[in-house]
Amino acid sequence: MSENKSKLTTSWGAPVGDNQNSITAGSRGPILIQDVHLLEKLAHFNRERVPERVVHAKGAGAHGYFEVTQDLTAYTKASFLAEVGKRTPLFVRFSTVAGENGSSDTVRDPRGFAVKFYTDEGNYDLVGNNTPVFFIRDAIKFPDFIHTQKRHPQTHLKNPNAVWDFWSLSPESLHQVTILMSDRGIPATLRHMHGFGSHTFKWVNAEGQGVWVKYHFKTEQGVQNLATDVAAQLAAENPDYHTEDLFHAIEQGDFPSWKLCVQIMPLEDANTYRFDPFDVTKVWSQKDYPLIEVGRMVLDRNPANYFAEVEQATFSPGTLVPGIDVSPDKMLQGRLFAYGDAHRYRVGANHHTLPINRPQSEVNHYQRDGQMISTENGGGSAYYEPNSLGGPTETSAHKQAPFEVTGEANSTAYDHHDHYTQAGDLYRLLSEGERERLVQTIVGAMKPVEQDEIKLRQIGHFYKADPEYGVRVAEGLGLSVPE
Ligand code: NDP
Repeated sequence: MSENKSKLTTSWGAPVGDNQNSITAGSRGPILIQDVHLLEKLAHFNRERVPERVVHAKGAGAHGYFEVTQDLTAYTKASFLAEVGKRTPLFVRFSTVAGENGSSDTVRDPRGFAVKFYTDEGNYDLVGNNTPVFFIRDAIKFPDFIHTQKRHPQTHLKNPNAVWDFWSLSPESLHQVTILMSDRGIPATLRHMHGFGSHTFKWVNAEGQGVWVKYHFKTEQGVQNLATDVAAQLAAENPDYHTEDLFHAIEQGDFPSWKLCVQIMPLEDANTYRFDPFDVTKVWSQKDYPLIEVGRMVLDRNPANYFAEVEQATFSPGTLVPGIDVSPDKMLQGRLFAYGDAHRYRVGANHHTLPINRPQSEVNHYQRDGQMISTENGGGSAYYEPNSLGGPTETSAHKQAPFEVTGEANSTAYDHHDHYTQAGDLYRLLSEGERERLVQTIVGAMKPVEQDEIKLRQIGHFYKADPEYGVRVAEGLGLSVPE
């Protein structure tokens, strides 16, 4: 048997003589510093981790493909959507948001739903969640919001006071809080949840005409959720329950799939729609903008190596392809900076050259050098522009479609303060059983809050969404709805 085994080497390729005993002076030691194999092993081990993602640290990923089922070329020139039947390889990373890398999968938390399409015109990252909205609508509030979701600086414990203090003082969070506290706040598996692009994006067709667009991935496994007590039991018994489920399903050939649909809004409607369509705390009613099917996503291959593929996968909402642009959504605008910046910090300046992140289409640019170049780095080809060396040149047809901006530069809030109608619409859409569990979950989550002032402020928000909603939460907490 042993003669078939490959030869153990150092990372420089030299055969290793002994991998079980370090070199010592005499049989007792001390250890000699000349045992460079030992030094190399220990030093590399110390460097096995890259910084954990501040958010979305715990994740699971899978490879798959996207197949176009409907022709939407009237709306976008995106090449991967160009014809029915066209397939594009992709990689998906699902994640929880607040917990650390080793935290439990079955917690009540939004799930990240990040898709990297390796299109024939470069990578397209759709970096969304399993919810159509978000807690805040301006990225300037994001670090504060996440501080409340993380650990207290002194106790290192989760802090319900901070969570509800922030939410009650940021009523734009109400819609997302209602979704999070509802049955869908804990998906049964990563396969049994929808995904959303959440933000508004712009699609541009070959004639340069644009529309606003929102993405919905509809699970073909059906929506299934975990009851709070079952989720807590699973969190204790198997913190990796969702990770394991996804891996095993794919390993067994039970490939999960999602239908991708979009809502399309004419550009001019954005000026008159009853909500600001760029406000990510709001949905566009599907009665106004019905879902249109685009294609189907199937996950059919597990990563061969977790660290290389899932941990080092870097997604950014700014990774776009011709035919897809951004919108003025202030949360999206902030993410355009924050994601790339996070990856340059935690994975490195050349994170885009790693196999999991590298486009599968041709890449030609004038960026050179930096830490950890593992490609040919452009060799001796043209390394500046303009040049007369025959280097790559721009494609004017893919210049950003022009758009108008108006108004004065200022720190301006969204100009509407209706944080309540859509949260109320959701409450009213729920069955009596779902409402009961929603209220129970909120009451359970708010009970540990020490200050009644915070609880009362939040009850006021629930009441404004729907009086019954507010009264039931108040009763559950043994309080009355404030004036
Ligand atoms: P519609 O009746 O046209 O759509 C209702 C939406 O709610 C569907 O997407 C449906 O998705 C989803 N839904 C159904 N049951 C639940 C549930 N128990 N928990 C969460 N979502 C559920 O109404 P509108 O489009 O006018 O939206 C009404 C409310 O529905 C909104 O205020 C919002 O809270 C919620 N919603 C809206 C979405 C949108 O994009 N418009 C998306 C998701 C939620 P499905 O049947 O696939 O489960």
